[in-house]
Amino acid sequence: MTEIGKPVLRFAPSPTGMLHIGGARTALFNWLYARHSGGRFLLRIEDTDRERSTPEAVSAIINGLSWLDLTWDNEIVYQFSRAGRHREIAEKLLAEGKAYRCYATPAELEEMRAAQRAAGKPIRYDGRWRDRDPAEAPPGAPFAIRLKAPQTGETIIHDVVQGEVRFANEQLDDMVLLRSDGNPTYMLAVVVDDFDMAITHIIRGDDHLNNAARQLQLIRALGWPEPVYGHLPLIHGPDGAKLSKRHGALAVEAYRDMGYLPETMRNYLLRLGWSHGNEEIIPTTQAIEWFNLDNIGKSPARLDFKKLDNLNAHYIRSMDDKVLADEIAAFLARETPPRRLTDKARSRLIAAMGSLKDRAKTILEFIAGADFLFTDGVRQPDEAAAKVLTDEAKRLNGEFLAATEGAPWSAPVLEEKARELANAKGLKLGQVAQPLRAAATGRTTSPPIFAMLEVLGREESVARIKSFSA
Ligand code: GLU
Repeated sequence: MTEIGKPVLRFAPSPTGMLHIGGARTALFNWLYARHSGGRFLLRIEDTDRERSTPEAVSAIINGLSWLDLTWDNEIVYQFSRAGRHREIAEKLLAEGKAYRCYATPAELEEMRAAQRAAGKPIRYDGRWRDRDPAEAPPGAPFAIRLKAPQTGETIIHDVVQGEVRFANEQLDDMVLLRSDGNPTYMLAVVVDDFDMAITHIIRGDDHLNNAARQLQLIRALGWPEPVYGHLPLIHGPDGAKLSKRHGALAVEAYRDMGYLPETMRNYLLRLGWSHGNEEIIPTTQAIEWFNLDNIGKSPARLDFKKLDNLNAHYIRSMDDKVLADEIAAFLARETPPRRLTDKARSRLIAAMGSLKDRAKTILEFIAGADFLFTDGVRQPDEAAAKVLTDEAKRLNGEFLAATEGAPWSAPVLEEKARELANAKGLKLGQVAQPLRAAATGRTTSPPIFAMLEVLGREESVARIKSFSA
């Protein structure tokens, strides 16, 4: 049941590929407006193109929306399953004289188009069966049902983004509603589904603006309520050109796998085409409060990975430690082969979170930097760390172990012992710390090493350092 007066929005993707970030932004805007206004957000899978629709694409859409936490209300509507209802509406228009049977054969239509092309005229159906008596058709001949569209005047879209957009009716021909094989057209399906789902606002990409004029003609013929339209400008690549495969990173999943957080993506996609003054950091709760249809930008937005990184670093830093640990566990579980964050690793992670959080722009970077906490055992030093671990460095490691034997295993004490050792040798603290880091983490960069040794605990730290000491 629709609550009277509350907006009902929808996201209506065609399941022909991945969930594109343009699509994700469309979904987000619809979702935000529904949540902002206390209305509903519905999901309709437009799978009428049987050749191009795939179950994998349906899953990609569902997974992408779920990952972004753009939850929909009600059951998913699958457009193809409603073909009977679409047919019924075409028949109703026919019975009311608002649509007509067109018996033109494909060959005849091709001939018509060729003549139009030759004469340099726009290609459109010439209305040859509009006023002709169907009795003139050969008996039993197949026919399509076409809308008897207005031929004069204008169809005007009052678009919340684009403003007033006018279409001369003489430029819109009588579109097919039902094909001669009995299949409803996409245009009919969209209008009928939007009506049956009680959609009040249609926010989608501006590649559908021309369709809106035709859909409005159909809505008017049916005497149905007209939705509010908002057509969003496309997203462009960092170079200003229309976003394409060439730019890479088109699928929402790709952003997930690069280690961007859902909260980052929601904030980022929101700012791609919507603004609230100069605010850049807009967490979702704030976005729900502020979102409106008036502040959607009219010009194409550009992808900017630097901004995306900065936002992600911000959300990583400000995320609750436990929630971030869950996020990391989920990321590890998606790897091939999957990795499991053990309880031990999780507590280490949480203990080290303070210093880890400040260092990573993406979850991927975070994991690379925290890898030494996930499993026990001797580290395989990377190339740079291997260079640090000279014979001299190994001797220092050995002396550090001797000096810390029996001492409390805490960061301040460990640092003090390292300092004493450095002083005794006329070295800087870093010269003692670096071999310890290389041995304990396998890398030459890490959060403050003494804090990390405390997190690893005495037994584990000693085992790791011992294997690179002399
Ligand atoms: N199925 C269309 C698409 O994926 C969207 C149609 C609509 O929003 O009306 O582009």
